[in-house]
Amino acid sequence: MENINSFDMKIKARSENEAFARQVVSSFAIGMNPTIDELEDIKTVVSEAVTNSIVHAYNNDSDKIIDIKASLDNDSMEIIIEDYGVGIDDVDKAVEPFFTTKPEDERSGMGFTLMKSFMDEFELVSKLGEGTKVRMVKRFVREEENAGA
Ligand code: ATP
Ligand code: MG
Repeated sequence: MENINSFDMKIKARSENEAFARQVVSSFAIGMNPTIDELEDIKTVVSEAVTNSIVHAYNNDSDKIIDIKASLDNDSMEIIIEDYGVGIDDVDKAVEPFFTTKPEDERSGMGFTLMKSFMDEFELVSKLGEGTKVRMVKRFVREEENAGA
């Protein structure tokens, strides 16, 4: 993957920063001429991952930090969202549809399922007591690919 452009930013784990992060990452993709659907997918997955860090990793302690990185190459964007919170005991279980440890907060357990289905690559690395890292890749469908199909 030839890395053409990238950024790395740290945000406080505050709920208002979820919208900020979603806008920043989707704006970064604009130069790739994404479709509306691709941009919506990116916004959704960033929101889901940042919300997970806020509510699960840090239990709404807004002084904590979330690290967001994105990089672009010729036809794709890699997004990495990392926290240094409680970590996940069983990652295989966590990614199952409808699995949630916070049903009382009306969580539906669909965050990771959305990330997996909206992105072309999805990788979850987590260690109890150390934190969680979500790595995702979106490949942008090009006009010429569509035309040739
Ligand atoms: P929803 O995303 O639908 O509101 P949810 O957040 O519970 O519900 P997922 O996003 O799929 O569902 O996450 C599944 C479970 O994985 C969570 O309930 C939580 O136990 C755990 N989890 C997810 N992200 C983190 C994280 N960053 N740190 C610690 N635990 C996490
Ligand atoms: Mg979630």
